[in-house]
Amino acid sequence: MSTGSTVTKTIWQYSDPLPEETMEFLRGIATDYCKVKNDVYRRYSGVKNLDRLTPVYSILNEMRYCGLRERLKLPAVYYELAIADAVTDIKGSWGIVKNKLRALITANENLSADDRQYLRTILKVNSAYAAVLTYQEYELPKRVKDLDVDVNRLNNLLRRLTRKYLTQPSSDTVDSFRISPNGYSYRDGAMRIVCRVPRKRIAIPLKDERTFDRQIQVQIRENNVALAVPTETKIKRHDDYQNTLYIYIGYQDMFTLSSGAVYGKALAELVSPETERLARKNRERSKMYATYQKNAACGNLQKAENIEVNNLGKSKYDRQKERERLRTATYINSEINRMFREEKPRKIVITKPVTRNKTAHYSKTVNRRLARSFGGYIRERLAYKCLINSIELDTINAKGTGSICSYCGAEGKRQKTDFLCENCGIQTTIPLNSARNIKIKYNKNNNG
Ligand SMILES: [Zn+2]
Repeated sequence: MSTGSTVTKTIWQYSDPLPEETMEFLRGIATDYCKVKNDVYRRYSGVKNLDRLTPVYSILNEMRYCGLRERLKLPAVYYELAIADAVTDIKGSWGIVKNKLRALITANENLSADDRQYLRTILKVNSAYAAVLTYQEYELPKRVKDLDVDVNRLNNLLRRLTRKYLTQPSSDTVDSFRISPNGYSYRDGAMRIVCRVPRKRIAIPLKDERTFDRQIQVQIRENNVALAVPTETKIKRHDDYQNTLYIYIGYQDMFTLSSGAVYGKALAELVSPETERLARKNRERSKMYATYQKNAACGNLQKAENIEVNNLGKSKYDRQKERERLRTATYINSEINRMFREEKPRKIVITKPVTRNKTAHYSKTVNRRLARSFGGYIRERLAYKCLINSIELDTINAKGTGSICSYCGAEGKRQKTDFLCENCGIQTTIPLNSARNIKIKYNKNNNG
């Protein structure tokens, strides 16, 4: 069963390393894209054009014949999307101005209720607002016709405040641009994008085979690109999901529920050997790098080059790391899905993430494991999956949920992963005790 609403999510796709020639081309397009946007900002962000921003066609038409595209020799697919993007930004800054003005109108004690209603209505009716700002004739909207207000005084106020808060957007982003579906196609595992030579395309070999047919953001990196693809996901509803889960999120076991159920049991095994392997690799690499620099510094270039070729291959290292990361991510996602299927939650309660400002006295390995513990990723995926499955996600402050015995309420002892209570004699695990405490604390908070 579907409610018909959707959420937008960004999917990332990466290119292989690209030749400098291609990188140069991409940077050139991004630079011109930025120039076009700034030109549109300069021409159309003033009060005179407020009423012309929607639909975008009239501005698009004017820009087609202004000569800028020919001067830049920029293909139309980039040129026109840059214009559309710039107009969207201008509308965004008008939105900010209107919100600011609405807040000021509410806060201004010199205005009567009628004054406020007049001002709010003009702000709402774009054509009237535009006419006021440019001193044009306009028809009073029906709702404000009979109000007892000094229209001149209020219009002056609107103009003054708008002048004060309206800013011209500007862009200095020269490492990204957007491309529309008619600007690219796929062949032989590569995305082929329009270039400055008519009928020619430039190949961007991709790391995977996925293809899309929507506007894509091209993010230029040092020697490759990242493609950001917006995708829509339908929000699902599960009428049979009726339970409330209280979850402790750990880095040994991913989820421990107050019922004792555990999901993501192998997470620590996936993460820890990888963490240790990476630490070892890093040590080796930095030793090698030191040797390389020493040799290069003494002019022993042949030896330096050997080391570089054989040991500093960063791309192999990156690929391996990326594969491990993907494997862990897949595991995390499938375990969240499995939990949903088996536990059928309507609501999930977790603790707010704890800020780690006391990391200084952890050992290096623990520190690195924390940094790579996927805690942030797990929370992000849980939140996203709750959203698209219509599951309510609630958080409480973690304070007290770790140290207190969930059976008798006394202060307990934590030894490695065990939780011991001398008061009532219970012996359990830290994750299970914490999950039970989350349940107790949440229900205490919400039942008075
Ligand atoms: Zn106890």
